[in-house]
Amino acid sequence: MTLFEKIVARQIPAQIVYEDDLVLAFRDINPQAPTHALIVPKKAIPRIAEASSEDHALLGHLLLKAAEVAAKVGLNENGYRLVINNGRDGGESVPHLHCHILGGRALEWPPG
Ligand code: AMP
Repeated sequence: MTLFEKIVARQIPAQIVYEDDLVLAFRDINPQAPTHALIVPKKAIPRIAEASSEDHALLGHLLLKAAEVAAKVGLNENGYRLVINNGRDGGESVPHLHCHILGGRALEWPPG
């Protein structure tokens, strides 16, 4: 079971901000911005590079819900960034697809 499957199964605690049948959103344990949440599909797709066409609707749902969660945690007015890290150079550390929702300060571009 991946770390995020354990959070979905409530085996590891998390500050959950949104849940439905397909996705779970919760606060990042090591926030990189004043507001930092993650949204994950309950299905354990390791990373975006391994998603397939059968995940088409799930990925659309994930992205739409990421925007809803961003609004719910107060980021709509000033904006926010959605990030998906893929593989070693992308900075991926948990092999369960997740989208970062970051905001609450002006974020730099390009990323480091
Ligand atoms: P990534 O580096 O893109 O794979 O992102 C993984 C993220 O998961 C990091 O931002 C971690 O801080 C976060 N993380 C790791 N363990 C937990 C946990 N138990 N609860 C919440 N977030 C976590």
